[in-house]
Amino acid sequence: MILSPPDAMLFAMLCILWDIDGTLMSSQGAGTKAMNDAFLACFGVANAFDAVAMSGCTDPWIFRQGFERHGIAEPFPAAMEKFDREYRKALPARLAAAKITLKPGLPAILETLSNRDELGSGLLTGNFEHGAETKLKAAGIHHFFATGAYGSDDEDRNKLLPHALRRFRGLGRQFHADRTVVIGDTTRDVACARAHGAKAVAVATGGHRIEELRACSPDLALQSLADPAPLIGFLEKLMGEAARV
Ligand SMILES: [Mg+2]
Repeated sequence: MILSPPDAMLFAMLCILWDIDGTLMSSQGAGTKAMNDAFLACFGVANAFDAVAMSGCTDPWIFRQGFERHGIAEPFPAAMEKFDREYRKALPARLAAAKITLKPGLPAILETLSNRDELGSGLLTGNFEHGAETKLKAAGIHHFFATGAYGSDDEDRNKLLPHALRRFRGLGRQFHADRTVVIGDTTRDVACARAHGAKAVAVATGGHRIEELRACSPDLALQSLADPAPLIGFLEKLMGEAARV
């Protein structure tokens, strides 16, 4: 397990950024259903996103697919704002009706990491910021995350990581991209870490099978977090390497 203080004080800071859907939790597609609800309320099209492959994508990107696919004749930014207002209403209702499940090993692993002053725990998710908060609160794990980067920061997931580091700086915590670990369930999570020189941990509990994840060469690929030891060992090694520099 992670070293105890005061040894740990010698170790460099490490930022851990978590994906939400498929990595921390699942909610029986409540997010997709709520997006369909919102699109129907705004533009009169039912099941607008059923044919959109969403895993690892940002909510604004997903919205754009529906917007273009269904030929919505409204100005884009205003249309997405209208959609977002409806989605804010639809998501809590869909979550309330869904069975929300934490992925194996959670929340114990978050609890372990939260006890370490040298680690920062945040989010890197394609969800709109309010959607992330709503989902994590519904799952009872919102309090583990100091801040994060969200789909509402940028439609392109590969541009999100700096937003999380900027928000950590605003909290007085300085992390660097090469001392950041992104944990997610899709090849897109790996790519958005690589885009900034961050480490990538891929977990096959959501959108992609472990073979697909391994094919994009994450620093660590795991079937699940049911056994926390591989992830903890990986983080310990990173912290140890930094201490020797
Ligand atoms: Mg995911």
